[in-house]
Amino acid sequence: MNFYVLTLFPEMVMGGLQTSITGRAMEKGVISVETLNIRDFSFDKHHHVDDAPYGGGAGMVMQPGPVVDAYENLCGRLSKRPRVIYMTPQGRVFNQTIAKELAEEEDLVFLCGHYEGIDERALELICTDYLSAGDYVLTGGELPAMVMIDCISRLVPGVLNNEVSAEVESFSDNLLEYPQYTRPEIYRDMAVPQVLLSGHHKNIEEWRRRQSIQRTLERRPDLLKEANLSKKEQLYLEELLRQTEEKNKE
Ligand code: SAM
Repeated sequence: MNFYVLTLFPEMVMGGLQTSITGRAMEKGVISVETLNIRDFSFDKHHHVDDAPYGGGAGMVMQPGPVVDAYENLCGRLSKRPRVIYMTPQGRVFNQTIAKELAEEEDLVFLCGHYEGIDERALELICTDYLSAGDYVLTGGELPAMVMIDCISRLVPGVLNNEVSAEVESFSDNLLEYPQYTRPEIYRDMAVPQVLLSGHHKNIEEWRRRQSIQRTLERRPDLLKEANLSKKEQLYLEELLRQTEEKNKE
């Protein structure tokens, strides 16, 4: 899968993504990340990319020309017009379901704004999607693009050594992941739950599912509406809800 990032700060994007798992995936050739410096497509003497907003107001706005030219340069090289995702607090909030859908694409372009954002005409001309990292405002789109590329990459076959881990972790089934433990068996008088040492796979699986349900109820009850629970697990959830109600009454 190929990621392209249109940015004013290529070194920030590559510095982050060339590290650890995404870096190794790039070395293996399972994913590629290419940055296009929007400033390279500004043809005035000082390579300006921003100007004051029409109508007045605070800050500067990125001009449409360099952004559109950077994208069209890429399209010319690829001989296709890949999907362009603008990083914006005004977009749909990114989540695991969106990541799964985007992981099916062969090429994705991430457009990173700065200052007060990008001239609307550039967005109208090239953007196909608008995605947000969350309901808060950052200084630029690079961190959201890095977050999304990291998350999508993990779903590309061959990026993770153990592919099962992407399937059973948080959000995969609208449940949060169960608690994890490793050596030592006892740490500061805290023991690893006995069931995990039993070697009894069915009991371990059942314990983990129950822990996931309980944890999701405590931390993200909104997810449970869409969770895929067996009849037995549904009864367990109802029992937990009853217990919570009783505790609240006390
Ligand atoms: N004036 C814009 C607004 O109110 O919608 C915010 C501009 S923000 C200071 C500058 C750039 O950061 C945006 O163009 C966008 O690319 C990026 N950005 C900021 N917050 C973001 C978020 N929550 N998700 C994705 N990108 C964000």
